[in-house]
Amino acid sequence: DFKLSEKALSISPSVTLEITAKAKEMKQRGIEVISFGAGEPDFDTPKNIQEAGIKTIKEGNTRYTASAGVLELREAICQKLKKDNNIEYTLQNIIVSNGAKHSIFNALTAILNQGDEVIIPVPYWVSYPEMVKLAGGKPIFLETKEEEGFKYNVEELKKSITDKTKAIIINSPSNPTGAVYDREELEQIAKIAIDNNIFIISDEIYEKLIYDGKKHISIASLNKEIKDLTIVINGMSKAYAMTGWRIGFAAAHAEIIKAMTNIQSHTTSNPCTISQYASLEGLKGEQKDIEYMRNKFEERRNYMVDRINAINGLTCRKPSGAFYVMANIVQIKGKEIKGKKINSSLDFANLLLNDINVAVVPGIAFGADDYIRLSYATSMENIMEGLNRIEALLK
Ligand code: PLP
Repeated sequence: DFKLSEKALSISPSVTLEITAKAKEMKQRGIEVISFGAGEPDFDTPKNIQEAGIKTIKEGNTRYTASAGVLELREAICQKLKKDNNIEYTLQNIIVSNGAKHSIFNALTAILNQGDEVIIPVPYWVSYPEMVKLAGGKPIFLETKEEEGFKYNVEELKKSITDKTKAIIINSPSNPTGAVYDREELEQIAKIAIDNNIFIISDEIYEKLIYDGKKHISIASLNKEIKDLTIVINGMSKAYAMTGWRIGFAAAHAEIIKAMTNIQSHTTSNPCTISQYASLEGLKGEQKDIEYMRNKFEERRNYMVDRINAINGLTCRKPSGAFYVMANIVQIKGKEIKGKKINSSLDFANLLLNDINVAVVPGIAFGADDYIRLSYATSMENIMEGLNRIEALLK
């Protein structure tokens, strides 16, 4: 008994960890594992960004920066938010952090009191509930339906609001569902937030990975009232293939940003100086590599969705963004495959890993046991081979 804090003990270990750790170990033993588990682009960081990082080191620009991030980067973020999202912010509305995950954690810490409720859509990104709990809040799970595009049902959303509700999380495009909200849907959610004086945490990290010519809309761009209630979260990890550089940012009302900056100044100081200058090049430099990667993801998505829907027992919607497919396994649950009874997404994920060496994430990790998540942030060859194996298994 180590007398750990209740807070620490309230946090669950990642369900996905077990499977990914096992897949890694199998790979090390020389087994040809195909992994659909990736949560990051398989591409290298674009050359111009790499070089900006190297140049920053060589120029000796390796000291602390302002806690909220260097001026030039915050200016570039303001310009980005104006140009891409049509939202007007000034420097006092911006904080740069160690990844979007850190931005979300700072935001929650800045707004939550003990017992405050935060509405989270199910299926959810694994870290939202745990971060809400760490910040003293209470996650309130709101189921979304596949046939409603895995998006909030506005009537249900209204019903789930209590006098304890402090914030609603929107993640568009979504991990794991790929759902993208349109303007009308965001307007309805904005109205609920304004009527009840509730914050919106708008996680837009997959903004640039959006398909079929769809356009990303930030809820903060709709009007002044919702802008003041919204904390926009974005970052470099996904679109710029910069997961390891750890740069994310938040934009919000100056009072919120001030609180987040205070928190950050006493916990992590500033985000990595070198990564900040590399990110500056990312935002201001040539964007053609970004569009190249987006195109590749769209090609892979199209292929994966067609293949999955042709496999016996599996179905899926075509996700509009991010780089994941949620495959519905309802027809498989309850069946026996290769002598093993499949009662859950974890059973099915284990079968795929043990029998055909294919790693997927069981939907239970996102609160959705009728699904498995397949990432297409891997090569077309891997996607083909992995889906061939699944198809053969389920024939
Ligand atoms: N938000 C969502 C929905 C994500 O999927 C991720 C990464 O997996 C993040 C935020 C955090 O990204 P990072 O901390 O690398 O910026």
